[in-house]
Order: sequence, then structure tokens, then C-alpha cells
Amino acid sequence: MGRGAVTASIKSWLSDLAAVIFPKVCEVCGQSLTHGEDTLCLECLTDMPRTGIADDAFTEMHKRLASPGLPVAKAASWFYYYRDSPFAMLVQRAKYNGRPKLARTLGRMFAYEIASGGFFDGIDVIVPVPLARIKKLIRGYNQAEEIALGLSEVSGIPVENILTARQHSTQTRRSSYQRWINARGVYSVMSDFSPDSRHILLVDDVMTTGATTLSCLTALHAASPQATLSVATLALAHKY
Ligand SMILES: [Zn+2]
Repeated sequence: MGRGAVTASIKSWLSDLAAVIFPKVCEVCGQSLTHGEDTLCLECLTDMPRTGIADDAFTEMHKRLASPGLPVAKAASWFYYYRDSPFAMLVQRAKYNGRPKLARTLGRMFAYEIASGGFFDGIDVIVPVPLARIKKLIRGYNQAEEIALGLSEVSGIPVENILTARQHSTQTRRSSYQRWINARGVYSVMSDFSPDSRHILLVDDVMTTGATTLSCLTALHAASPQATLSVATLALAHKY
């Protein structure tokens, strides 16, 4: 047995041992994953409340983002976000539990599902919704950026962090109108971003009223009026 083979066999032994000590479990139901399953068990993957939205047809995402002079080309969202549902927990874990890898893996899984329908065709750049600097320092990562990187790994489209956010109060427990007032003007495009006519895909974890998304789209449109704008979020709040 050569040294490489010995190393490989030690590695495989260690990963078997790790699987015994820290068995991989489904991130939704907590059941042990079987061989071939990753992150989610087959049952949860089947039960996922998919939105089926990944198109340029007028969808409920377009409806939430409807704004005069701001056309949204394509919109996609993987699953519905029902408060307290195990799938909502999935988003919470990717966001607050120091799990950037989980966010990226979910982005990859989402990307695989929408890529086959041609969702990424024509898109030039993926732009994540930014976190205010202080929030990113505390959390250690931006979950939207990790999801964007997952989409990028599958689609081959580059990620560019061209948006910045200033610190603002939380959107939770606000009405739709209050959210829009609160989010307006929070996001801006970096000054060194050169306007052009590229097709930009804005990415976030959850879309609720659409106030955050709309605020980002408004900033992108103001900086680059010729750009085509599309949106992809991991989850879509069912009610808000
Ligand atoms: Zn499961």
C-alpha cells in the first residue's frame, strides 16, 4: 500500500469514526442521514413546501416588488417560509447559528433545482443583499452572501458585493408600510461600481414584504438604469 493509499484509508477511517461520534443528521427533522443524503433527508426534501417560482412570468414575488419604473425580470424562491415550521428553522440556523456552510449548501441545492429550467440564462452577476458592517462583524458572515456563493458554484456566475448597508433598526414586527419606510435609503451601491447594462441577480435569504429587496433594487436601478434586475431568495414568507 503506497503512502497515498494509507493516507486515504486513514482519512476514510477518520470520517467513519466522525460519523459514529457526530452522526450527520437532517437539518430539518433531525433524523440520521443515510448514505447519499446530504443536509436534508429524502423525506424532508420531498415534503419541502416549494414555491415553484423560478420564472420571468408575473409571480407573487413580482407582485410584492411592484413599483413604477422598476421592472423585475426573473424571480425565484425555493420554499415557503411559514413561521415556526421546521423549514423556517432551517433559514434561522443558516442565519444565526454561525453556520455559513449550511447557508452555502442550501444555496447550492436551490441552484441545482432552478438551473435545469434555465433560470440562470442571461444573468451576468450575482449580488447579495448586504449586512451592515457591525452586524457582519458580530455574526461573522453574511448569510445572503453565502447563499449567493452557493448559487455561483452551480451556475458559474460571479458574485460581486457592490451593495452596502447602513445600520438600521430591525424589520421584524413592523407593518408592511413601516418596513418600506424603514428600509428606504438603507442600501446604496459602492461608488466604484460602473453602471452598465448587465443582468444582475439580487440574492437574499427570505423575502417577506419585499421592502428590503425593493430598497436594494431601487439602489441598483438608480446606479445602473440600463441593467436588467432579477431576484432569488431561499425562502418566501407565506404571509406577512
Ligand atoms: Zn429530514
